[in-house]
Amino acid sequence: MAYTAIIGMEVHVELGTNSKMFCRCVNNPTAASPNTHICDICLGHPGTLPLANKEAIIETVRIGKALGCSIRELSKFDRKHYFYPDLPKGYQISQYDEPVAENGAMTLDMTLTDNHRPEAPISITRAHLEEDTAKLLHDTDGSTLVDFNRSGVPLVEIVTGPDFQSGAEAKLYCQELRTMLRFLEVSDADMEKGQMRCEANISVQETDSFDIVDGLVVPRPGVTLNNKVELKNLNSFKAVERGIAFEIARQTQMIEDEQPWIQQTRGWDEDKGETVMQREKENSADYRYFPEPDIPPFHPAEIAGTFSLGELPQAKRARFHEEYGFSFADAHILGATKALGAFTEQVMSELVEWLHSLPEVKGASDEIAEQHKTRAAKLTSGWIINKLLSHVDSIKEVKISPENFAEFIALIYTSKINSTNAQKLLADMLAAGTNIDPSHIMEEKGYGQVQDSAALQRVVEEVILNYPDQVAQYKNGKEGIIKFLIGMAMKATEGTGDPNMLEELLKKQLS
Ligand SMILES: [Zn+2]
Repeated sequence: MAYTAIIGMEVHVELGTNSKMFCRCVNNPTAASPNTHICDICLGHPGTLPLANKEAIIETVRIGKALGCSIRELSKFDRKHYFYPDLPKGYQISQYDEPVAENGAMTLDMTLTDNHRPEAPISITRAHLEEDTAKLLHDTDGSTLVDFNRSGVPLVEIVTGPDFQSGAEAKLYCQELRTMLRFLEVSDADMEKGQMRCEANISVQETDSFDIVDGLVVPRPGVTLNNKVELKNLNSFKAVERGIAFEIARQTQMIEDEQPWIQQTRGWDEDKGETVMQREKENSADYRYFPEPDIPPFHPAEIAGTFSLGELPQAKRARFHEEYGFSFADAHILGATKALGAFTEQVMSELVEWLHSLPEVKGASDEIAEQHKTRAAKLTSGWIINKLLSHVDSIKEVKISPENFAEFIALIYTSKINSTNAQKLLADMLAAGTNIDPSHIMEEKGYGQVQDSAALQRVVEEVILNYPDQVAQYKNGKEGIIKFLIGMAMKATEGTGDPNMLEELLKKQLS
């Protein structure tokens, strides 16, 4: 029997606005001291009047647009009633039938994974705005404390259609969503801090027993579908993937064993590596939604018409790959934020211009120019991603101008400096705290690479004289020892020798 998993995702995102959703309290849900950013409104005192945060509405519109949603002409808030200690009013202000954004889409490129399908088209059902609840802290003595700093923080809920078929797809979706949210600068979307919370609805069905019509799973005639399981406590991308994969395997086994299950909520236990029953789900709770009488309806589409989002991460990634020859993985990192994307692009445009001024590229065929560009792109992405970004938290901290960084790459490209000294040079440039000329520091500190073959030849002869044992070993076929000899020669040049030239000279001398 063939089975298909039907998975829908619900993601809650805390917006990084300055103030909370309906009051002027500072939005800092993880403040060290509990109950310090609170007021009558977010404590739910009777008789208080909520005032909607315009910034939060604008950010929700931006998210909706970025997800390809249509933005409603008219939207309103509703009260969702339920009783729980994290909800002082006895209802949450949310959105029911008129969400800010609906009917969007995202296509997941699964080709870099071993997913069973190379592309996963995902529909975005809706994105709506609501308020977060207070945080409950369960003490070891069995008591529970309530921290209202989180109460009333703007929260966007993004709901997809039942379009995922594997844990890998759900994980990539959450990663793409985080990239997008960070790119839009609406949330840091840090899962560990609870700024982005993912839940999955999962049911495994016999393939060909259902159709998905307008975002709903419809059984074919005569079929009774298996119940869905709501999966919570997915606190990392890894947990999203593993939790869903486990649940698919568990349900598949239940079908094989002819054991039906009831609708239920389960939690992912990271340590045990399994999902555990949390509660049986009664028929969907009656929240008795009704329109929030204290907040007037608003017009999101009007807001949407006032701005354009520019190039979004997925499009930028594709263009970086196409235009500069970055690998997809590198393009993904380099295009993830506006600041890094802009820096990379300026470095590359400087470099390409400089490459075209080289005698060997000038007037050369497009093919040669293209080869140089690809080599330069590889060098640039390597130095930005592995070296530059390892020194700083964000590219915004870097004081090196793209022009000077391009010059720095050019020095490496033309072997004027070797990799070891280039790392020192980069550290010096960063430490300077201002924009300084890399060639200047290179000369000043003597980082330049010695490519004078007569000088290097003398060094090689000296090394051969000084290390007769290693030379003998090399001559007896232990070729790996050449690395030691190159190292000694590099040391003799105080790190400025060109290691490729030294290797060549040593091999020639010893042959
Ligand atoms: Zn407040």
